[in-house]
Amino acid sequence: MSVVPSHRRAKGLADTQRRPAKELCSECGLCDTHYIHYVKDACAFITQHIDELETQSHGRSRHLDNEQELYFGVHQEMVAARKTEPIEGAQWTGIVSSLAIAMLERGLVEGVICVQSSTSDRFTPQPVIARNREEILAARVNKPTLSPNLSVLEQIEQSGMKRLLAIGVGCQIQALRTVESKLGLEKLYVLGTPCTDNVTRSGLQKFLDTTSRSPETVVHYEFMQDFNVHFKHSDGSTEQVPFFGLNTKELKDVFAPSCMTCFDYTNALADIVVGYMGATFGWQWIVVRNETGKEMLELIKDQLQVQPVISQGDRRAAVQQGISAYDNAMTLPIWLAWIISFVVNKVGPKGLEYGRFSIDSHFVRNFLYVRRNYPKKLEAHVPEFAKRIVAHYQLPKV
Ligand code: FAD
Ligand code: SF4
Repeated sequence: MSVVPSHRRAKGLADTQRRPAKELCSECGLCDTHYIHYVKDACAFITQHIDELETQSHGRSRHLDNEQELYFGVHQEMVAARKTEPIEGAQWTGIVSSLAIAMLERGLVEGVICVQSSTSDRFTPQPVIARNREEILAARVNKPTLSPNLSVLEQIEQSGMKRLLAIGVGCQIQALRTVESKLGLEKLYVLGTPCTDNVTRSGLQKFLDTTSRSPETVVHYEFMQDFNVHFKHSDGSTEQVPFFGLNTKELKDVFAPSCMTCFDYTNALADIVVGYMGATFGWQWIVVRNETGKEMLELIKDQLQVQPVISQGDRRAAVQQGISAYDNAMTLPIWLAWIISFVVNKVGPKGLEYGRFSIDSHFVRNFLYVRRNYPKKLEAHVPEFAKRIVAHYQLPKV
């Protein structure tokens, strides 16, 4: 007699029901499914167990005494790359979409978890299991809002699919890795992107309204290594707003509380990570974490221009100075911000040092946020690697 897995008796929550992580929920989608049964262990905001999951996914946890691993996680290789023929309309050059297409068309997987836009609003995410090139391409470009990617997990089980690629950000992947063995798959491939400072759909509107000259025509934006937010508008025009010019008073609470308590910026549990933060302007940054990631990258190497990663500058003074600014949420006049942005870009950190700048700044900010708002969670929720990074800086007294 076959035993029905206990999660099948559970039931996903309705949209209106409060999630177990309460205000810290990042809407990863797990609780929309019967895998909510495992939420206590799986939710990144209830139980932090990155080192254990690193061992499960990569065979070991990161070497904390190796600076490169302390910051970027377990890896075999890091390179800068871009597609020789970029995909029109992709977030960057479309390495993520190209990899997904190659895996599907070469038969490594039967489906791909990715996220398209809802038909009524381009910024409202619509998770899908893509089964052909067109469906993957329809998911290209970031939906810069919390996205319930795991809400399709029950469909995987129902479809009988055995080989799957999942594309997602850190909190989604932490939950996915925790329930991986319950999904009935022969092989799960995980393609991650870094992620930080995400917002709810209403938070996104507030950000666009306070930052862009034309919020209703924005089709794409990115926080870039030149310390500006780059917007693209539907008429093809571009707009740049320096980070230092963001209306931080107005935007103080815009980022989702989940993202203010997240320390998995670089997606520690994916087989391969594709971002931009460790590369120079115009290039993407690829981190191969394990043998599966290596196998994945090989599939599209002939579509890529590849170069070694570089590291230039020294971030530390800038991060230390930024700590009091985060704490006070200051806003500079926009013209002054432009000048600062120019100076910082000329002498500022580049390549991996920019990546470390961004990690340091976010980890310190988030550590202070958790310390202030969830002091009882601080010890268990902040991973050891993040504690060591934050310890490089002088923090305001409690
Ligand atoms: P494309 O080929 O355009 O494909 C994009 C893929 O992203 C699609 O497959 C889609 O399914 C998936 N996706 C879109 N929106 C979401 C979402 N909300 N949740 C999960 N998956 C999604 N990189 C950095 O280096 N530093 C950062 O701070 C950073 N922040 C990010 C924040 C968010 C919310 C997201 C989604 C990504 C972020 N990235 C960051 C990754 C980076 O912006 C690009 O997504 C990545 O470099 C891939 O570019 P591409 O052209 O290859 O992707
Ligand atoms: Fe559930 Fe995901 Fe929200 Fe955690 S983050 S409560 S797992 S939906």
